[in-house]
Order: sequence, then structure tokens, then C-alpha cells
Amino acid sequence: MRDTIQHDLSAALLGWYDRHARQMPWRVGPSDRAAGVLPDPYRVWLSEVMLQQTTVAAVRDYFLRFTARWPTVDALAAAPDDQVMGEWAGLGYYARARNLLKCARVVSEDHSGTFPDTYDTLLKLPGIGPYTAAAISAIAFDQTETVLDGNVERVMARLYDIHDPLPASKPLLKEKAAALTPDIRPGDYAQAVMDLGATICTPKSPACGICPLREPCLARAAGTQNELPRKTPKKPKPTRYGHVYIAQSDDGALLLERRPDKGLLGGMLGWPGSDWSDAPIEAPPFAADWQIMAGEVRHTFTHFHLILRIWTATLPPAYAPEDLIVMEKHAFRPSDLPTVMRKAHDLWRNR
Ligand code: SF4
Repeated sequence: MRDTIQHDLSAALLGWYDRHARQMPWRVGPSDRAAGVLPDPYRVWLSEVMLQQTTVAAVRDYFLRFTARWPTVDALAAAPDDQVMGEWAGLGYYARARNLLKCARVVSEDHSGTFPDTYDTLLKLPGIGPYTAAAISAIAFDQTETVLDGNVERVMARLYDIHDPLPASKPLLKEKAAALTPDIRPGDYAQAVMDLGATICTPKSPACGICPLREPCLARAAGTQNELPRKTPKKPKPTRYGHVYIAQSDDGALLLERRPDKGLLGGMLGWPGSDWSDAPIEAPPFAADWQIMAGEVRHTFTHFHLILRIWTATLPPAYAPEDLIVMEKHAFRPSDLPTVMRKAHDLWRNR
């Protein structure tokens, strides 16, 4: 049972949200929501998948392009894989793009193009984990679900002055967040806590003086807000190495590969190359006088740093390998490449 203090806290936060909600292309703001405008679950879902591990600023243009090109889940479900992966290029975490398509097709085919409206049914869809299921059911369907992202964790750790480090403290932070989640306007409330964390209760120098929770906030009273949330230090990432091979014909065609569906950068275009390891074995795609370029590509993935060396050669005329793609000059768009492959392209192009 929510007590009076919890009720006052969530009411204060909703009042603040009514005045200061951020505008986002996928969001129905509080005044429109009060006037009866309903969020489009497709747009809520798309934004939540895009926002996993990425910032609002980075997602905005991608979201606008996706929704202009595929305005409904049925339209997205019918899109060719290549086009969707191409539009996604640069957002990273490509398994999300593959799951995005899978999910769109399941919703289109098994649910007649209508997103299910409860946490449990959403959780069964491809690529939708507990966080995303809670966010969609709260934001799109106004269900009383607790949404716990990094912003909400920070606000809870400070509000209750919790010094246990993340990630071990997650269950406790979730318990605190759940106790505050109101039955009235839970969708607006979920967005209000996220907005507070993104704009007021920021990681560095939180603006406590203008925070709607400044009176009850225990970290502010104790002066510990800048130390929270505590985090268990991460292990340093290892560095792996690899080779990529960029071959161009005299008329400008390039040799590319489609990476296997499973694994890192799955389903994306890239340059043929070696494994990525401590001591990669050179693996040129065809015999030629390969020249190694000066410089190297550096890129960081979630679990490791990668350093790539680039080899170049001339692509022989009429070369037509079965497992690779010879892409004509006019058809090649660097923006279709994932970031690490685009970095290799840019280094090669500017050589
Ligand atoms: S008072 Fe400060 S630390 Fe507490 S919730 Fe507000 S911004 Fe965060």
C-alpha cells in the first residue's frame, strides 16, 4: 500500500512533469495525454528499442527517418532486411535491429499489426526484455509497471541515499521505484522520473535547488548526491586485433561481405577480413599483391577494444566470388556500413 509520503512524492513529480516534460518525436506530452490523445504503441516500441544503450539526441534523427519510411509496424514488417539494416547503420548493437524486424513481423503476422498491451505478452516478443516490456506497457498502455533505467536508478539511489553499489543494488532500487509508481497516470509518471534523471538529477552536478524532490531527498540532506549511485568497478576491456581487406576495381566497384546473421555486427555489410583475436591470422579474400596501409582503425565494443589493420589491392575484372558481394560504385553508400567498417572506409578513402 502506498503511503502518504509516496503519494506526495509521485504527485510532486507529476506536477513538475506537467510543466517541464521534454518534447520528443515519439512522446505524447502531458497536456495532449490529458486531452485524450493516446500514444502510438509502434512509435513507443520503436523509440524504446532505439534508446537501449543510446542517447535521446543520437536516436532522434534515426527515429524520424524510420517512421517517415515505415509509418506503421506492418510497413516495417514488409520492409526488406537490407533496407532496415542500412537505416540502422551507425546506431550500433545490430542484434537489436535484427530483433526489431523479427518483432515487427511477429506483431504484423500473429497479432494483426496490433501490439499486445500487457507486460507478460509484450515480454514474449523478440527483442523485448523486462525493461522494454515495462516501458511499453507503462508509456503506451498506461499500465502500472515500474520502469528502471539508468536515470531512474540514479534518482532512487539519491532519493533514498542508498550506498550499496550497482549492479547488486538493482533489486532494492527497483523496490523503491515500484513503491513510488502511482496507479493514476503511470505512463506519465514513468516518463517523469526518466526526465528528472536526464535533466535535473544528472550524473554530475545535479540541480538540487530546482528539483521537485529536494525536500524529501535523503542524499541532498546528507550531501552525498554527487557520490551516488555507487558502482562496482568494471573489469578493464581486453584488446583484440584483426585485418580487413579493401579491394576496388578500376571502375570503382568494391568487394564487400554480408556478415553472418548470428554474432557481432550480424547481418551487416562489411569488408572481408580475419578473425578478431590476440593474434589474428591474415585471410585475404583472393590472391593479389595486398599492401598494408599506414594507420589503424580503433573501435570499442561492449566487451572489448578492437584494432584493425587495412590491406588494399585492385579487384580483378569479372571477379565474382560466391560468398562475397561485388558492389558497383553507384550502389555503395558508406552510411550502410556499421561504424567500425565505416571507420575503415574513411581511413582508406582519405589515404
Ligand atoms: S534533490 Fe538533488 S539528488 Fe535529490 S533527487 Fe533532486 S536532483 Fe537528485
